[in-house]
Amino acid sequence: MDQFETFDDPACIFCDQPIAPGVHDPCAINLVTRIDRPRLQQKEQTFFCHMHCLQSRSAMHPGVFYIVEPGFPTVGECKT
Ligand SMILES: [Zn+2]
Repeated sequence: MDQFETFDDPACIFCDQPIAPGVHDPCAINLVTRIDRPRLQQKEQTFFCHMHCLQSRSAMHPGVFYIVEPGFPTVGECKT
């Protein structure tokens, strides 16, 4: 995958397949490095993936993905 891949053509970091719009897809994972340092010294990279690939391929328990629960608010809903 090209590190400069754009959101116009996202491919999943786990299966390298295109990500069609869906109930939760496409998903983005924002990685922040140097989280212990001042904000201006941190680095960020965004990865794209399918929700089911993240859930099935990570070592995290599927239950931690509370974001898929029905009624989980959007960012906009949290701000109102
Ligand atoms: Zn995938």
